[in-house]
Amino acid sequence: MLVTDPSDTVDARRRHVASAAADLEASPVDELYMAFWFYGLLHECGHVVLAHDRGPSTEWRENNLADLIERVIDESFGDGAATARESIRAAGTARSLDLQVLMEEVQADVIGVRLLFAAAFRVLGRAGAITDETAGRLAVEVVTMFGMFHYMNGCAQIARDASQEFEGEPGKDLGFNVANGVRLNVVADALADDLAAVLSSGDDGEETYERIRAGMLGVISEAIERQAAFDRGHHQAMRLVLYANERGADVYGRLAEHVLANDARALYFQDEARAFLALASDLGVRHPDLDLLAAIADAPRDTHRLVSEHATTFRLAWVTGDGVDLPLCVPLSDGRLIVFVFLTDALGRHVERARIWARPGWAVGRAAIVAPTEHEARISIHRLVDLDARDLTVVFEGSEAFESLSRSIFQRAGGVEAGEAT
Ligand SMILES: [Zn+2]
Repeated sequence: MLVTDPSDTVDARRRHVASAAADLEASPVDELYMAFWFYGLLHECGHVVLAHDRGPSTEWRENNLADLIERVIDESFGDGAATARESIRAAGTARSLDLQVLMEEVQADVIGVRLLFAAAFRVLGRAGAITDETAGRLAVEVVTMFGMFHYMNGCAQIARDASQEFEGEPGKDLGFNVANGVRLNVVADALADDLAAVLSSGDDGEETYERIRAGMLGVISEAIERQAAFDRGHHQAMRLVLYANERGADVYGRLAEHVLANDARALYFQDEARAFLALASDLGVRHPDLDLLAAIADAPRDTHRLVSEHATTFRLAWVTGDGVDLPLCVPLSDGRLIVFVFLTDALGRHVERARIWARPGWAVGRAAIVAPTEHEARISIHRLVDLDARDLTVVFEGSEAFESLSRSIFQRAGGVEAGEAT
């Protein structure tokens, strides 16, 4: 399990924020600077404005938003749109697609974008005339920034949702990519409108306005297009965090194949892995899985050897009989299933006690999975049981989650063994 010291974490966050802010402050005041510094802030100001006033935007009524959600799902998922709708609905709590929540965000976005343009045009105006080009660049930076905030929020949210230590009902929200698409559409529209209005002012022709608006939408959609490949990868990564049974097996085998293919890839991997490990260390996160990653980052050419040296035997209870041949899953009162994984001989006692969950005709025995990391063992178990991370939790001996779950479950089971009612 991940071990963090909260005070380390706060200090590390402060350091990262301070160095990011210092880098940014050293950069020239341009479109990127304006978008980066002010866009998020002005969006929050938008929420403050909305708290006092229902907002200026009446054109984005809830049914327009509902239509836009459907259009974005069709556009983002193509042939898979029906399946995507189903999985978003099945996830239950699509907070980000709640029309009222989305309406608030959309309105805050529009207020933020309008304020940003008013401010940026004044600041940039001092450096030179506002031209179509400056305006276009500012629009592109806003779209890029919008995407970045979205990726960061998405990662933070999915990490919270997927955390094994998460207390209470995890609210899986796969709707946020769609919500982002909706917001991006509204922002693009507001951007094109406002820029066209500013740039065509003094020129009374409706034609000029329409021409500039169309040009702006072109520039913005090119920027959105450039993010599309990253967006698909991001969405897939988010999905695999929640749907562990869909992950591919043999993670390190595939990594070795990728890293060893050529030197450029090995160097790139080294850079990425070291930055990731430095961040983990700064945040006070320690986990045996990270040791293997660190060893490979130091010597990518030795990946195969290092992976086999890290081979660990993970033990678990296994049920067979009556067409069943699976890891033993212990049911929780909320319907979730738990697989306990052992690193020691404590498995023996678990197998004895676990018999109460086996149906008549089932035999409970022992099995072992050999894998280089807990992460990989976890994937194997999810694939064997074919349940995603919402329904199945895999806990490893020695972790806090393992201890607290086994205490609460076996106390309950103690009652069953003594003949008490469940
Ligand atoms: Zn907001």
